[in-house]
Amino acid sequence: MVPDSAHMLVPAGEGRAIRIAAGELAHIIDEAGGQVVDTWAFCQQDISEFHSAEHTRASVGKLFPALGEAFVTNRRRPILRYEEDHSPGTHDMLIAACDPTRYEQLGFMGWHASCEENLRSAMAAVGHSDVCVPQPINVFMNTPFLPDGNVRWLSTRTGIGDSVTLRALLDIWLVASACPQDLIDINAKRGSIRVTVARGSEPVPRRLSDAS
Ligand SMILES: [Zn+2]
Repeated sequence: MVPDSAHMLVPAGEGRAIRIAAGELAHIIDEAGGQVVDTWAFCQQDISEFHSAEHTRASVGKLFPALGEAFVTNRRRPILRYEEDHSPGTHDMLIAACDPTRYEQLGFMGWHASCEENLRSAMAAVGHSDVCVPQPINVFMNTPFLPDGNVRWLSTRTGIGDSVTLRALLDIWLVASACPQDLIDINAKRGSIRVTVARGSEPVPRRLSDAS
């Protein structure tokens, strides 16, 4: 076991929230490889302040921060820093979370799990039943925008144990949803996600096997 750390398992197709203090590292691990992770961050003190994709794009001057750069909130305060990337490095911050209407429009009949519902249920489980659904940080998502403006919907290229590390710069709720999308091929293989949290001075396991 890693001392003084926390592990959050997000089963395939589900969502979970975990409390992270300013300065701590969140290590988002694709356990089986091939899974997109819709990720959000809300300020613990006031969840009406949250990571904002549009404010982050304006802050960094690009579609996704580079390593070492910060994601910012809807009040333009740095909330997460992009610390490490042990994956192909392909992520998205332009596509909305999947939701019930998305699946209905794709032709699915009946209820289908979605990242929007996963976010709402994860935050409700930690006492916040009324939460907005910001544009997520779509970790591992491989949907490049082409020079002609079109978007390509490609499968994520992650392998077993690939990971991204984010450092909380404020006290946050981090929410991760193992995207249940199975009608288009953004997930190469649907599986569970593990979020490991440890203080910056402590070793952070890069693979699940390192934590046991
Ligand atoms: Zn989704």
